[in-house]
Amino acid sequence: MRWSQTLIPTMRQVPGEAVVPSHQLMLRAGLIQQVASGAYSYLPLGIRVLRKVMQIVREEMDGAGAVEVFLPTLQPVEWWEQTGRREAYGENLFVVKDRHGRELAMGPTHEEVMTQLVKAYVSSYRQVPLTLYQIQTKFRDEFRPRFGVLRSREFQMKDAYSFDIDIEGLDKSYDAMYNAYCRIFERCGLHYVIVEAESGPIGGNASHEFMIPSPHGEDTILSSDGGDYAANVEKCEIGERAYDLAGEPTGELERVHTPGQATIEDVGKFMKVKPKNMLKTIVFESMSGDENGPQPDQPSHWALVVVRGDHEVNEAKVRGLIESRWGGKYVALADERRAREREGFEIGYVGPHAVVGKQSTAVIVDPDAAQAQFWASGANEADHHVKHFNWKRDVMDGLGDRAEELVIVADVRNAVAGDPSPRDEGVMVESKGIEVGHVFKLGTKYSDALGLKVADEEQKECPVLMGCYGIGVNRIIAAALEAEEGHDDRGIIWPTAIAPYEVVITPIRYEDRMKEVADDLYAKLSEQGVDVLQDDRAERPGVKFNDADLIGIPLRITVGDKGLANDEVEFKPRAAADAEMVALGDVLDRVDAYLNGG
Ligand code: ATP
Ligand code: MG
Repeated sequence: MRWSQTLIPTMRQVPGEAVVPSHQLMLRAGLIQQVASGAYSYLPLGIRVLRKVMQIVREEMDGAGAVEVFLPTLQPVEWWEQTGRREAYGENLFVVKDRHGRELAMGPTHEEVMTQLVKAYVSSYRQVPLTLYQIQTKFRDEFRPRFGVLRSREFQMKDAYSFDIDIEGLDKSYDAMYNAYCRIFERCGLHYVIVEAESGPIGGNASHEFMIPSPHGEDTILSSDGGDYAANVEKCEIGERAYDLAGEPTGELERVHTPGQATIEDVGKFMKVKPKNMLKTIVFESMSGDENGPQPDQPSHWALVVVRGDHEVNEAKVRGLIESRWGGKYVALADERRAREREGFEIGYVGPHAVVGKQSTAVIVDPDAAQAQFWASGANEADHHVKHFNWKRDVMDGLGDRAEELVIVADVRNAVAGDPSPRDEGVMVESKGIEVGHVFKLGTKYSDALGLKVADEEQKECPVLMGCYGIGVNRIIAAALEAEEGHDDRGIIWPTAIAPYEVVITPIRYEDRMKEVADDLYAKLSEQGVDVLQDDRAERPGVKFNDADLIGIPLRITVGDKGLANDEVEFKPRAAADAEMVALGDVLDRVDAYLNGG
């Protein structure tokens, strides 16, 4: 491609709206243009990068035995209602109305449509295992689109779905995708880490996220310095810790008036107590119900979840615990009004001792909060807190025989740096990452909801186990730039495999012998199949060099008078500090060696 023929609107200025390097560089290098919040046009350089990433993804999907399809964006919203996801997705789901007044969802992901597709054509165990994938535009009405294409409302995703009839099959399909993901990110030149992620119905080790470490990542990763465990904070387990519910009080229980103090920080300042010496009590309700939803009129169970004031309750952990212990199906943060009217819980001021005297309430406490030390806590009364709360006196003795049954010490909070690792002797360390891919064992969630079953060898209907596997194609691009080795103060440094062009030829002036040699190299390299950009513009050399650095082409060949006097051109890898003179006759071989590691 000749520079003069294409459109590469480079910018010297850093656009004001862009705060992270990848967003700034994608705008400045003329890869993308914002059209609306979270919606971007891809300009000629941008689409070339996107295509290269897609090609790598396709090759690896095909290589792993997945088969490509292409599903529509518009989906019957009823299918989303059948799986309960219309509600679960909430406002993130774009819903449009057609001219007949019918609602259609714009796919943020395609589990429903894919399950329906397989249901239509697959009826026998002989037709599985089957893994289908597509690369397609997804729509999500993100609460906060930001950081350019890192979190947009319209983006390209590769999504794959596997169908199996037994766990062994699912495990195999999952592993095939997992390994393909490793190859994809390696080929894209990315340094990635794999973390355990929240796993939903199958539990255990059923979900992994592929993360690019970056200070601008929106995900928090905890890794053991012992090396054997890394997880998303949403899922990260915490190793064993000692606790003490039997120790003696530090003083008389003292009631303190704390008017209008809403947060733990405010209350702490007001009472002159550090958050780590306060107890935070969050009320959960577990409603009974059936497949049609919760039954709010039926009696429900309540759980007071207690963590230290400087810790955060992990809702998924709480839900998992309540589901496994009491079989609760509809577990959620308690509604403030319901909690007050039904059980007298004063949300915001609840303390663990509210459990005493209740019939269907339990306490679930994190080990770090289950200590005999000075505690401040809610007083179970609006605008009041207590000092010197003590587990033995105020809860255990009050519950008497039922204490063991009603007070459960368990891991129910988000892990933080310094926590013991659950898998090795190490201590957890915290970092930030960008989620570029996600593999997930779904189990029968969608096949059950949408009635997908196949006949086994004995002609008996059996459920279908699914997995889903997503990769954010645009996010890969931004993540590559976000990485430390992805840019410097002069611009982008592309990994060669996804660079828009592999080589840029920069004649100092596009005239005379310089033009002749540049054109000749351009023709020969193109013929060799190299992606080459010819800077044929009548710009000053400084402008050309700056642009070449900004758009980050891996190799620059500079053709100048001085070099040509010795039949040499200048050879400069983007990431290298210095250039090197190469004899004209050696250029093709050297380019080949540089690109193909020969
Ligand atoms: P996030 O937690 O970042 O919102 P997610 O977990 O909701 O993402 P998935 O449903 O797992 O995303 O989607 C699969 C992949 O699609 C993600 O791993 C990510 O790479 C990409 N992706 C998701 N949301 C966006 C978005 N708004 N913009 C760009 N890429 C996205
Ligand atoms: Mg995800």
